[in-house]
Amino acid sequence: MFQRIVGPVHFLESTSFDSNIIYIDGGARNVLVDTGTGLNAQRLDQDLRRLGTKAEKITDVVLTHSHIDHMGGLFPILASASPRVYLHREEADRINSGDTEVTLADSVGAELPPIRIDNPLEEGQILDFGDVSLQVYHTPGHSIGSICLYIEDLSLIITGDTMFAEGSFGRVDLPTGDSSKLVHSLRRISEIDFDIALPGHMQAITEDAKDSARLSFEMARTLFRS
Ligand SMILES: [Zn+2]
Repeated sequence: MFQRIVGPVHFLESTSFDSNIIYIDGGARNVLVDTGTGLNAQRLDQDLRRLGTKAEKITDVVLTHSHIDHMGGLFPILASASPRVYLHREEADRINSGDTEVTLADSVGAELPPIRIDNPLEEGQILDFGDVSLQVYHTPGHSIGSICLYIEDLSLIITGDTMFAEGSFGRVDLPTGDSSKLVHSLRRISEIDFDIALPGHMQAITEDAKDSARLSFEMARTLFRS
């Protein structure tokens, strides 16, 4: 079940291989950030109905990166809706040219249906979803096009697989992963002001999130000695 975090932002903590899923009620726009694997699409639809909406009403899907556990749930949504889909240009370009290595679909034996990402994202871009604006931070390291999304008005950041709770952070041993880029990205995140961080896996960080970000940066810097 989605948990209301603050204002229009709701958080669905995964209990499976799915990524966490964030729902933002922007008034006229119904936004998902990440979508899980898609294996639990029906349950996601039920959870959205509890919030007074449903999968077919989703107008915008923002992907923090294109790994299958974050992106797979897009395809069942596309069966009944036509949301705008956003992904950083580094990964959107790869997918649009037919190179799906970065999605990890092949590595888990999944076949990715053909898709075109029409809304490639850039560093610094502002996504205006009516009542809520998300600022794009390009934070490569876990993957080449990983992003974080900052909602300054709510003092909240969505960190994808770049940063997790308790000083942890995303793995860098997958295609396009890069440890020194991850350390640099974690440093950038730790310099942003926020109280709440919503990562792509594990629990939401609703207290002292900035301290948690600093710890993740220090842990990564120590581990990778950069
Ligand atoms: Zn990932």
